[in-house]
Formats: sequence, C-alpha cells, structure tokens
Amino acid sequence: MHVLYMSSQNIFERIIAREIPAIIEYEDDEVIAIKDIAPKAPIHILIIPKKNIPSIADATLEDQNILGKLLMVAQKIGKEKNLEGYKLLFNVGEKGGQVIPHVHLHLLGGGKIDF
Ligand code: AMP
Repeated sequence: MHVLYMSSQNIFERIIAREIPAIIEYEDDEVIAIKDIAPKAPIHILIIPKKNIPSIADATLEDQNILGKLLMVAQKIGKEKNLEGYKLLFNVGEKGGQVIPHVHLHLLGGGKIDF
C-alpha cells in the first residue's frame, strides 16, 4: 500500500527538520544558512530564522532580535568567505518576488552584483 505523504511544512522547515537535504553554511539554535539551489550569483546563501515568520510583512516587534541576527550571520559569512562586497535582499510577498513563505535573507556575492 502506498501512503501519500503531504507535508504542510514549507521547504525551509523541511530542511531545518532534516527531511530534505541542503548544503548548510551556518547553523545555531535560531538560524540556519544554506546554499541556494539555483544561485543567482557565484555565492548565493539563504539565511533563515528557524522560527517561521511567513514574510517581513508579518514580522512583529517580538521578531526584531532574530531579524537583526540574520544580518549579523550575513556579516559573519561575508567575513569567513572573504567577500569584498555583497548584496543582502529580502523578497517580501508574492509581488515582491517571494516564493517560499518563510522569511529568508538572500546573501549574493563573489563577483560584481549588478541587480
Ligand atoms: P524567494 O523568491 O525570495 O522566496 O527565494 C526562494 C529561494 O529559495 C530561491 O532563490 C530558490 O532558488 C531557493 N530554493 C528553493 N528550493 C530550495 C532548496 N531546496 N534548497 C535551497 N534553496 C532553495
């Protein structure tokens, strides 16, 4: 008998739960950073809070520490990879280009990022 398993979790929650694989660049109790599966720059890393905040538009004051931490993890990764410069980007909502409904900060670098 085949059981069709439909997870209600988004891709990032499934990566955090180790249900699907990812290349992990950084992890602690609150944050995970993974390589983007379809990179738009030589280095493209997604920095993701483990708490599921669907988008920046849904964040509350309670989330300000974790959102600030995403920036500090980006800085740490930038230093570790000796990046001379990089771009940090949140897509917010469908019309802002957000596809996965779980906050994530894009770190793009490793060359001149012109978009
Ligand atoms: P956004 O458009 O801001 O929601 O960005 C979602 C990002 O997640 C895109 O850049 C995708 O390439 C990336 N992505 C989708 N699935 C995976 C995955 N399984 N592992 C790593 N990155 C992924």
